[in-house]
Amino acid sequence: MTFSIRNDLLFQNGSQVTNVRTSRKYGGSLTAKPDLVIHYTVGENFGAMVAALSRPNAGHGSAHIVLGQKGEITQVENFRTRLWHAGTSYWKGRNNLNNSSIGIEVCNQGWLNERGDDGRWRQKQKWQGRWYTSRWFDPSEVFVGRHPNSAVYIPTFGDARPNVPAWALYTPQQMAALDGLVSVLKSTYNIRYVVGHDDISPGRKQDPGLCFDRNRFDVWNGGRDELPPRPNPTPPNTGVSSYPVLGMGDGGYAVKILQRKLAEAGFPEVGTADGRFGPKTEEALKDFQTKHGLVADGVAGPNTYAKMF
Ligand SMILES: [Zn+2]
Repeated sequence: MTFSIRNDLLFQNGSQVTNVRTSRKYGGSLTAKPDLVIHYTVGENFGAMVAALSRPNAGHGSAHIVLGQKGEITQVENFRTRLWHAGTSYWKGRNNLNNSSIGIEVCNQGWLNERGDDGRWRQKQKWQGRWYTSRWFDPSEVFVGRHPNSAVYIPTFGDARPNVPAWALYTPQQMAALDGLVSVLKSTYNIRYVVGHDDISPGRKQDPGLCFDRNRFDVWNGGRDELPPRPNPTPPNTGVSSYPVLGMGDGGYAVKILQRKLAEAGFPEVGTADGRFGPKTEEALKDFQTKHGLVADGVAGPNTYAKMF
């Protein structure tokens, strides 16, 4: 996909992308040679995130670009307008980067703090007196780990009460769109640095989070190793560390995934993926373990998952 910018408006393949222009009241213009700040939205629904980030009333956050999970893009305001997305922040001699940065909000759920018995994860948080939960994420959709800005509070819930959260993966479409956006913004506005919100507000923010490919920042910044080192989940950790140990008699969603994986791996004797760990599942699992040089004990644990995912 090819991006271009004319009169501070974004075009994709020659057509102007949707521009809602509801945030002009934040007013003022960015300083020259702005930085570019990457965020996650803490939500997956593109339409809802665009609506939330383009509300015209004072006090609400915003950003210049909202990027959906399929790579869909809306521009909230033109690129020279000052918007509220960075808050209290500091980077390389500048404070309050709202004055001097373009913001991209990427639709991603962010941290997931509740782990279910079946090994899946979701986000649960209280906001203005009400509880909100995200959908459940498969272990294959997350990376488990602690963000370096771990002083930022993440509540723990569920039977497992994990003190290490999981993080939702970004989509390949989002990363491809970001490559294109960064490229056109750099060439148009002489961008100083491309950074994460967690780089400029380390006491408050963890976005774009542990699943964002840190190598991309080095590439975008011309190879300068300016950013703090981070654990880099690329290629993505498949969530193996969050998977429960499973054996004869176990049941539930995690067993279903195990059964599907065994069938995919060429062990049809597992039969239907019914979520019940019985003799057929055990037999298929033992065959899988034998084939991969593991102890054929018929119990699925970290060694088995490492070969399976
Ligand atoms: Zn942010």
